[in-house]
Amino acid sequence: MSTYIVLLGPPGAGKGTQAKILADTTKLAHISSGDLFRENIQNQTELGKQAKSYMDKGELVPDDLTIAMIRERISCAECNKGGAILDGFPRTPAQADALEKMLGEYGGQVNAVPYVTAAESILIERTGGRWLCRETGHVYHEKFSPPKQTGVCDIDGSELYQRDDDKKETVTKRIRVYFEQTMPLVEYYRQRGRLIEINGVQPVEQVTSELLEALKK
Ligand code: ADP
Ligand code: ADP
Repeated sequence: MSTYIVLLGPPGAGKGTQAKILADTTKLAHISSGDLFRENIQNQTELGKQAKSYMDKGELVPDDLTIAMIRERISCAECNKGGAILDGFPRTPAQADALEKMLGEYGGQVNAVPYVTAAESILIERTGGRWLCRETGHVYHEKFSPPKQTGVCDIDGSELYQRDDDKKETVTKRIRVYFEQTMPLVEYYRQRGRLIEINGVQPVEQVTSELLEALKK
């Protein structure tokens, strides 16, 4: 049976950083809704055009578009052997319901939901200094995890850039949207006994080891 892990947490909590490490360690696929939307924007697809207007405002992309995109990615059997780490999806109760149904079709379920937390001032500091690589979205921070050479990805040598929606005003909006629309999922998964609370305000390696320890259980 496939394993699916949903990472929950506000913008900047460290979901993407941890999802990449967990995917390497567990050999599960890493499915990031934000990375998929950014890829669509870069490739100027119809979905990218539709998603961009919401992302620029710090709002969620409508459920129907988001669910269809994730359904397609999850149904791709070869990219998804053994399950996946879901990073950034679901973010609304309707998405969580759709996910249960989708995984049911493939004989899977959401096995665990690590919920990574951090205070708002830390989220703003982290997103404000975040740099991503164009090639594959490797994550850096100018202060907390700088690349060896400014502006260049250590792993694949591609250019680093800052997200337009990581401006302070947009991050503040995204945090508000998170509290209004995504927080209900914390209760949803807690009631199902799958929530694992993880303190995100620790060094990256410490967060990873707590995550791995909790996931063993
Ligand atoms: P963060 O790193 O802040 O958690 P993401 O890269 O996951 O941000 O998401 C960036 C933007 O992409 C969001 O602000 C939203 O507009 C859109 N997005 C990502 N995932 C979803 C989702 N599950 N539902 C709706 N919109 C989403
Ligand atoms: P999310 O996907 O939840 O939005 P990211 O993983 O992209 O978060 O992390 C946001 C920023 O904070 C990045 O610049 C990343 O390098 C940095 N970061 C992630 N985890 C930590 C940590 N434990 N301590 C300090 N900085 C971190």
